[in-house]
Amino acid sequence: MTYQTHEHDVLVIGAGGAGLRAAIEASAAGVSVGLICKSLLGKAHTVMAEGGIAAALANVDERDSWKIHFADTMRGGQYVNNWRMAELHAKEAPDRVRELEAWGAVFDRTPDGRILQRNFGGHKYPRLAHVGDRTGLELIRTLQDHGIHRGIDVHMECTIVALLKDGARVVGAFGYERERGRFKLFRARAVVLATGGIGRAYRISSNSWESTGDGHALAYHAGAELMDMEFVQFHPTGMVWPPGVQGILVTEGVRGEGGVLVNSAGRRFMFDDIPELYRTQTADNEEEGWRYTQGDRSARRPPELLTRDHVARCIVREIKEGRGSPHGGVFLDISGIGKRMANAAEHIKRKLPSMYHQFKELADIDITREPMEVGPTTHYVMGGVRVDAETQMSSVLGLFAAGECAAGINGANRLGGNSLSDLLVLGKRAGEFAAGFVRNERHHPGPIDAGQVEAAARRTLEPFERDRSEGEGPYRIQHDLQEMMQDLVGIVRTERELLRAVGSIEQLSARARRVKASGHREYNPGWHAALDLSNLLTVSEAITRSALERKESRGAHFRGDYPSKDAQFGRINIIVRKDKDGSMQVSRQPIPEMPAELKQIIQENE
Ligand SMILES: Cc1cc2nc3c(=O)[nH]c(=O)nc-3n(C[C@H](O)[C@H](O)[C@H](O)COP(=O)(O)OP(=O)(O)OC[C@H]3O[C@@H](n4cnc5c(N)ncnc54)[C@H](O)[C@@H]3O)c2cc1C
Repeated sequence: MTYQTHEHDVLVIGAGGAGLRAAIEASAAGVSVGLICKSLLGKAHTVMAEGGIAAALANVDERDSWKIHFADTMRGGQYVNNWRMAELHAKEAPDRVRELEAWGAVFDRTPDGRILQRNFGGHKYPRLAHVGDRTGLELIRTLQDHGIHRGIDVHMECTIVALLKDGARVVGAFGYERERGRFKLFRARAVVLATGGIGRAYRISSNSWESTGDGHALAYHAGAELMDMEFVQFHPTGMVWPPGVQGILVTEGVRGEGGVLVNSAGRRFMFDDIPELYRTQTADNEEEGWRYTQGDRSARRPPELLTRDHVARCIVREIKEGRGSPHGGVFLDISGIGKRMANAAEHIKRKLPSMYHQFKELADIDITREPMEVGPTTHYVMGGVRVDAETQMSSVLGLFAAGECAAGINGANRLGGNSLSDLLVLGKRAGEFAAGFVRNERHHPGPIDAGQVEAAARRTLEPFERDRSEGEGPYRIQHDLQEMMQDLVGIVRTERELLRAVGSIEQLSARARRVKASGHREYNPGWHAALDLSNLLTVSEAITRSALERKESRGAHFRGDYPSKDAQFGRINIIVRKDKDGSMQVSRQPIPEMPAELKQIIQENE
């Protein structure tokens, strides 16, 4: 077997916001850095982010502060967040945004020239620094430009299929070039996983093709723990029509700019169900909600800007009870602001240019004149690799994780905008501490174990070696998995359905063990899909088993058979790890006691 070998002090797997920010920081610390991505540099899923980056800059409302951002994040996460991560994130996000600006990001501005901030669900004050509705593009462009000048080695269109270990610590990774199918071996003294989300485990998803849970699965098989996997965020507003674009995101920015949700009877149904936790912060009439979106500081937020889990469930209720739109969603209408504002059409096009074009091009809908049809879409996973709050290191020595593939900061539900700030704050920390780990380590890593490399290569080539008569191609299995996850492990879950899902995953795994690829290793998407399958199955099993274990409803995890919150589950996280016999073990981990000063901040902001 032949392969190219590369050597770096710190190897970053993933070139989205988290990976780029980690790579920049590690490189700035003076160690050599390699950065790997499945697609071309600049094409990571982060580029799709729309609404903005949450940071308590207090540019639009000076009452904002890190303390309120912290309290909002904890309330949004229903208090099972890692409170230290939430604290660090709220404190450090403003500096990370200013730094991005210093590196060349051109944000929308306030009239007096400061970074403009917009309203978003669950945030008490306007907090999202943004660039129209193309914030992810600006973030990636800026980090990429900055990173390139730091001398980071980039390995594009390369998929990592295994982490390599020497005893308890990670010493490298093994993968293949997607174009030519040739193998690559990376020796590294520390590895940062920044591989993004798992959205492709579901049929309806806002996520790009890359989001197949690779980092989650790589970490799990290397002995790291996964945490909170039951918390999958279904964004309330994805496109529902036409079928080919189902799931594509409709940014929360539409509601932040005054868009409202209505059912087929024309009723603003979000006023019908306001959770107790948010009652005092939510407008009780349409007029007040509108004033809030226009910056009236005495007004409370409209119910359309409640947390995503709640809005998604209200939409599902309307659809299930027969008050949905013609194509199985509800209506999101921003055209109505024309009644309250001069030049509304121009305003919508300026504030939401991508949404205007998205609907015009894909659905032939002019959102300045007509309502959109929207419904929930699988969007984000709060669960991921369990890491230390300060350093981002996992339970495997030398293995770090940041961004969407890591867990902790968001608890049971992420607030919009908190991912991009998480990528910057905790991505930076991962790079900084990975470099520190390399510089301070007393023992150099041992040699790469040839047996591990050979086993990884053999597994990778197996789909070609199956006889034509046995097994099947990957797409049917992938499709059946996505349908099953959508139906049985979706927005509303029950024990009966989750147990059925466990059984289905076993059957699908058996089929995946016989998956075959035709042709050869060059330019072969069928082979890539066959390899992604085992990652999708690993994360699907982790989500399902964790969802079975959490016998309550909290945040994004709703159990039809346990519809209330249960205080005992408010004190634990659910952990998944690989047992010695290869089976998936699920356990409960108590959440450490929160320090008194943080408790006080939460109480003051209730
Ligand atoms: C449409 C949309 C809009 C959004 N808008 C916002 C927003 O406005 N604000 C906000 O805060 N959040 C938003 N989010 C969420 C946010 O964009 C993501 O959570 C975030 O970008 C994830 O970043 P990441 O760096 O963790 O991973 P990603 O950006 O997903 O990058 C993952 C990287 O890992 C690489 N990779 C994956 N597997 C492998 C492998 N096996 N080998 C090698 N490389 C691999 C990929 O190629 C890629 O480079 C949005 C999400 C969507 C879908």
